[in-house]
Amino acid sequence: MADRKPIISGNWKMHLNHFEALKLVQELSYLVTEDDIDAVDVSLHPPFTDIRTVQTVLEADRLPFHLGAQHCHFEANGAFTGEIAPSMLAKLNVSYVIVGHSERREVFGEADDMVNKKVLAILGSNMVPILCCGETLAERDANQAVSKIDGQVRAGLTGVTAEQAADMVIAYEPIWAIGTGRTASADDAQNMCASVRATVADVFGAEVADSVRIQYGGSVKPVNAKELMIQPDIDGALVGGASLDADSFARIVQYRLAD
Ligand code: PEP
Repeated sequence: MADRKPIISGNWKMHLNHFEALKLVQELSYLVTEDDIDAVDVSLHPPFTDIRTVQTVLEADRLPFHLGAQHCHFEANGAFTGEIAPSMLAKLNVSYVIVGHSERREVFGEADDMVNKKVLAILGSNMVPILCCGETLAERDANQAVSKIDGQVRAGLTGVTAEQAADMVIAYEPIWAIGTGRTASADDAQNMCASVRATVADVFGAEVADSVRIQYGGSVKPVNAKELMIQPDIDGALVGGASLDADSFARIVQYRLAD
């Protein structure tokens, strides 16, 4: 099995102005240790208006967090009022971009073909997409969870090379668990992440599937992080609510020290 370094990502969504963002990064820097960073990659995904501020503090203080973004457009430039191009994020040393989050799909109507264009554009700017997939409760109850995820992952990865796919992150996020306080059981999350890996194996082969990192997302908290993270096919967590509090997020990053 490939030695996949776990990645824990904080998705701040539409929270925190740039002063609050600075404070959170500084608090995290006191709590997260070098040992933590040796064991786990950590990416922070502030709102667009905070990215330059977070970049400045990360670089000035040499803080070991990766800079992330929550979304971008797929075009390089043009008349797209309100949008941000991948190259603009890359210029700010953003490394990871979340794409296809269920809130973007459900609230902003992003369909699989748009998600795929974004994946390709993010890769084209030498950043790593965190491709999100996940089923609704109705789909889960109708036994459609695996086929839904399979379709989203295949569509999202269309046109991606095996080499690019091997370095990507895929986040399995059951929609019914996002921001609801409901978490998938560790067994369920493991089975679904294993099924994401099986889809990647079917598209790109076993070596790529063994290398791609798969996160679980959906109400991850300090109290449940360890049982999720020790599952063989779960290589990280995409954390929303609990990433807004330095102590909670640091304890998730330090899951390996939990009882
Ligand atoms: C998310 O934003 O992707 C998420 C999983 O949110 P939460 O941790 O709040 O459920």
